Parts: sequence; structure tokens; C-alpha cells
Amino acid sequence: MIAARTMTVLMSSDLLTLSRACGLLRRRNLPVRDFNVDSTGQLGFWRMSCTIDADDATVESLLLQFQNVVGVRKATSSPSSSGDSMGSAVRVYYEADTDRARLRDRVFAIIGYGSQGHAHAQNLRDSGARVIVGLRPSGASWKQAAADGLEVQPVADAARAGDVIMMLVPDQEQRAVYESAVAPALGSGKTLMFAHGFNIHFGEITPPSNVDVSMIAPKSPGGLVRSEYQAGRGVPALVAIHQDASGKALANALAYATGIGCSRAGVLATTFAEETETDLFGEQAVLCGGVTSLIQAGFETLTEAGYSPEMAYFECLHELKLIVDLIYRGGLGFMRHSISNTAEYGDLTRGDRVISPAVREEMRRLLADIRSGAFAKEWIAECRAGAPRFAELRRAAQQHPIEQVGARLRAMMPWTEEGKRAKQKPAPSKQPERESARA
Ligand code: NAP
Ligand code: MG
Repeated sequence: MIAARTMTVLMSSDLLTLSRACGLLRRRNLPVRDFNVDSTGQLGFWRMSCTIDADDATVESLLLQFQNVVGVRKATSSPSSSGDSMGSAVRVYYEADTDRARLRDRVFAIIGYGSQGHAHAQNLRDSGARVIVGLRPSGASWKQAAADGLEVQPVADAARAGDVIMMLVPDQEQRAVYESAVAPALGSGKTLMFAHGFNIHFGEITPPSNVDVSMIAPKSPGGLVRSEYQAGRGVPALVAIHQDASGKALANALAYATGIGCSRAGVLATTFAEETETDLFGEQAVLCGGVTSLIQAGFETLTEAGYSPEMAYFECLHELKLIVDLIYRGGLGFMRHSISNTAEYGDLTRGDRVISPAVREEMRRLLADIRSGAFAKEWIAECRAGAPRFAELRRAAQQHPIEQVGARLRAMMPWTEEGKRAKQKPAPSKQPERESARA
């Protein structure tokens, strides 16, 4: 069974031995959770300790190699004391830690009724809270919220009526909505809430010091926040406190988490800075920017080498879902366990060549731009200018050949949107074939 083990290796205090020991670990390509070299207090000796995820057989053979190949004095192993050294530092709150009574006798103004807004409003209402949805009367969501049986008011009126005001309009709209309709309604005893820290962390919104400012950020799209709640479960969320004017900001935020179902799954404590910076980094470097660029670069490499775009699409995009499903279910180890040995060997020996030191260096630069506020400044300026570059980038991305070939292939898959539309169409006539999804 794979588990976290700490190996302790006593070695002579020279860099060559240390380098050989590291080389041994490197060749095995095991995930190293932590690594430390310190003095033993005994002249001429160092103690290297590292925690790895490995099974018994791997640990046994590593210990033998440390002794026989590297020539260390002593190598021993023990189960890692913390088990999960990453997770152990984070405080997690569950339903029993929260006070559901705080949902009563208070009015929750949910500003926005999109992905998150519809889920928060409906879940809070079903949890027994009084909810008013704040929207612009001209917008499409007003009718939807009313049709869902919720009380709807213009944003300024909802904010005035609300004891708790949750900002769930898109991040780039929040400052304008706040300044025009929310700020005038704030005062002592009120709570301003967010589901993402961007506007507070980068100073776009500066609430008065007499209000509580907190965050409950579900770690999922709104559709799942609602459907999990309805199924009697919930999605995990983050909680953070920016201002605690009442001394009850945390208790109130956790009650909100219970109202939308998140404390059934667990609510992890964080800060506005950590949530904002890791969220932006994740979407830029890995989830969105990293993945789309990796897919496109793989597709272009294959098609430039003369392979068919259809094959390139299947190999570099379509199959990604199968791999991600396995990773989602059981982590990288479970995915590697499920693929062929050939695929696993290719993964373990080639992955680091794709994500080379230069790529990691670029990731650090992305993070530096996020932390310095340079990215936020650029994005805010782009939005204020009417987002012309954003529109152009979107247009160019839609023109990429992978999108064209993808639309054709997905029309052959009855479970996809294009597949469903293709099925509804009458049988193909003898007319020349058309690009199906050039909407
Ligand atoms: P969204 O779906 O894009 O929000 C759309 C809603 O905002 C609509 O009801 C829209 O109403 C309303 N709206 C837009 N501009 C408005 C304005 N100027 N005045 C009044 N209402 C306006 O937003 P979202 O994705 O739920 O994101 C909301 C917050 O949750 C953000 O802070 C986001 O970072 C955070 N979050 C999102 C997710 C996610 O997966 N989506 C996950 C975690 C956290 P109209 O019909 O009038 O246009
Ligand atoms: Mg995110």
C-alpha cells in the first residue's frame, strides 16, 4: 500500500555522498513531500530525512540501495508522523462547528443570480433563511430569480434590506455595483461577503471599518453547489475573514457556509490573499492557461509532423478527460496505476522534459506578477477600456484548427452538445458538406 514514509539516512558530511543519495531518489521519480538535511551534532555526519509516498517494497529497496550503493552509515524508515503533512496545518470546519441559528432573524441579500448566485440564494432559502436577490431590473436573471420563487429587488434596495450582503456579480463588475448600490447601504452591524477575494485583496473595494468582511468561496461551479445541497451533501469551501468589526465575523461566515451546504463537506480556513493568489495562479498556470496551451502545443506538434488533425485531436484533447477523471478519482497514483506500463514509463521519464526548468521559471514569474498586483492592474485596465484585446484574443482562439476539427468530431459523439444537435438534424442530403459548428 502506498503511504507517506519518512526515511532517515545518516551519512558522512560531504556533498558527494549527499548528491549520490539525491540521485537515487531522483531516478526513482518518487513524490518527495519534504526533504531536510541537518547536522547530527556529531562531527563529520549529516542526517538527511525525507518523506515520500511509496509502498513497502520500494522503501525496502531504497534503504538497501542507500546502504550498498551510496555507502551511507545507516538508513531507516518510519511511517510519516503527520500522515498528511500538507493538510495537517489547515483548520477545517464542519457543520458541528457552526451555529445554524445565525441564519435566522437576518436578511441575506444575494447580489447577482448567475452561477454562484442562484445556488447560494436557493440553498439559503431552503435552509430557512430570509433571502432577497439584488439585481438590475433590465437584466435577464431578474425573471429567472422571480420564477424560482425568490424575492427580487434592485441591488440598492436589497443591500439596504440585507444584514448580510453577498457579492455574486462577476468580479470585474463588482467595484461599480459596490460603489453605486452597496456602499451607501453599509453601516455598523452589517456583513459584506465575497466568494472570491480579488476585489478586496487588490484594493478595488475598500469597505468602511465598521462592517464585517468575510469570504465563503465554494470550490465548485454553482450548479454543483445547488445539486449537492439538494442531494443532502455539499461541496467544500474556503472561509476567510478580512475585517471583524463585530467580533462574530467567523461564526457568521461559517453559518452562511452551513446555509449553502458547504460545512457538510468541510470549510477550510484561509486568507483573502492566499485564496486570491492561488486561485489566479491555478487558473493561469495549470487549469486554464497551462492546460489549453499544452493541448494546443501537442496538437500543433503532431499536425506539423504530418499526422492527421483527427488523430491529434483524439490524442491531445479528447483523451484528456479520461485521464483527468482518473486523477480526480484517486490522484496521480491512481491514474498511473490504471494506465499501461508503457504510458506510465513515458509519463515518468518525459513529463519533466515538457515542464522543463524554463517552464517552472515562467510559472514563478506568473506568480510574481499575481503577487505584485501587476496582473490585476492589467486586467482591471483592460476591463475599463472595454476589453478590446480580450475580444481579439477570444476571436483568435476560436479560429484555431483544433476548434474546427473538434466540432466535426464531437458531432460524431451523441453525448456532446454538437452530437445532440447533429442527431436532431434531418439525415444529410447530397449537398456539399458544411463546417457544422461555425456558429
Ligand atoms: P456570473 O454567473 O457571471 O454572474 C452573473 C450574474 O451577475 C447575473 O445574475 C447578472 O445579472 C449579474 N450581474 C452582472 N452584472 C451586473 C450588474 N452590473 N448589476 C447587477 N447584476 C449584475 O458570476 P459567477 O461566476 O457566479 O461569480 C460570482 C462570484 O463568485 C465571483 O466573485 C466569482 O469569482 C466567484 N466564484 C465563482 C465560481 C464559479 O465557478 N463560477 C466559483 C467560485 C467563486 P443580469 O442577468 O442582469 O446580467
Ligand atoms: Mg478557481
